[in-house]
Amino acid sequence: MTETIFRGGTILTIDPEHRVLAGDVATRDGAIVHIGGSYTPQTSDYTILDCAGCVVMPGLVQAHVHTCQTLARGRADDLELLDWLRQVIWPYEAALDPEAASAAGELACAELLLGGTTAVLDMATVNHTEAFFAAAERAGIRATIGKAMMDAPDPQIPPGLRETTQHSLDESARLIARWHGAAGGRLRYAYAPRFVLSCTDELLREVGVQARARGVGIHTHASENKGEVALVRQRFGKDNIVVLDELGMLGPHTCVAHGVHLSDEERALLAARGAHVCTCPSSNLKLASGICALPELIAAGVSCALGADGAPCNNNLDGFTELRLVALLHKPRSGPRTLPAPEAVRLATRGGADALGLGDQIGSLEVGKRGDVIAVDVTALHTIPTESPWSQIAYAAKSCDVRHVAVDGRVVVRDRTLLTLDLGKVRARAVAAASKLFP
Ligand SMILES: [Zn+2]
Repeated sequence: MTETIFRGGTILTIDPEHRVLAGDVATRDGAIVHIGGSYTPQTSDYTILDCAGCVVMPGLVQAHVHTCQTLARGRADDLELLDWLRQVIWPYEAALDPEAASAAGELACAELLLGGTTAVLDMATVNHTEAFFAAAERAGIRATIGKAMMDAPDPQIPPGLRETTQHSLDESARLIARWHGAAGGRLRYAYAPRFVLSCTDELLREVGVQARARGVGIHTHASENKGEVALVRQRFGKDNIVVLDELGMLGPHTCVAHGVHLSDEERALLAARGAHVCTCPSSNLKLASGICALPELIAAGVSCALGADGAPCNNNLDGFTELRLVALLHKPRSGPRTLPAPEAVRLATRGGADALGLGDQIGSLEVGKRGDVIAVDVTALHTIPTESPWSQIAYAAKSCDVRHVAVDGRVVVRDRTLLTLDLGKVRARAVAAASKLFP
């Protein structure tokens, strides 16, 4: 038996009562066994993490990232979505080789874990999906990954990314067999048709059928950009979410990234199907896509989550930046009480867990759940002297305040040091691979 004890913090449980407790959080063999008060180790194999001055909380869960894009950080600034994809991102993804893919994956996982993100829903690229799973396995992050599916006969898709419908489905099936449930359940698979425009109807319909049959999730983009929405209407004569629904893609196992341009009917449909929407505020601003009407989505009963999207459209994978931004972004239009701090923190933790289909396992600190726990130091000048941990976490804390991180009870960051990967090597590989891709 192995125990990890987060000792002596202020605990944000994010449980149904949103309890705030003081004391220890303990995990044994990966699961939470104790919350609040003091805990005495039950074995001789234990690690104690000093959490004095820290808020101890569930790790952030980002329900939409692209770890594969990390090496294109800063290479695709100031473009709108379709130009960004066609001019830089698709050619970049087509040019990745296994070494570059591995370097991108490790860089992303290192940034995510050091910044307090313990779980992600990750859309990889068409090829080299193994490399992203392997990087997540080494880094120790909890990841649900899917290969991007792109079988549309679109001449704007580079040849290196175009695939046949059958290849896309076969490769997904192979990856599910290899990785879904790997690393003790920490790694999982989700079908990732890139978006309606990059896929044939046949593929999307088959993804809907196979995801249900295999019990895996679906992760896609929809209604991010006005140009995209117009092209979907042109092709189908219908709105994006209606199209996804008619193709059998929507359900409680589906996470739709963005949802910036939605009608009331589409919001109602998402709620009725129990599908999740992951909002990505920095990415939507930077690509000039717009602002997702999150208050309307929440009011319609849609389950919502938060994500950074990719490094070239953000340009960080920083959960705390997204948390602060989402908490601020909707106040001018909907009033200062919109998404108050506790709701914003819940969106960034439990909301993400639900979107990954892991709401019963992570996203809150409750006995029996997995030990995905972070300690955030709130003694820095920029977080004192308030006494409200909700306010500190939602509005003031930064990712560099994250002191300790455990995933499945395993300590992966201790005193701001990543224990699973050599950061010098991560940095050197990333720089070398990027300089080859962008000579
Ligand atoms: Zn995306």
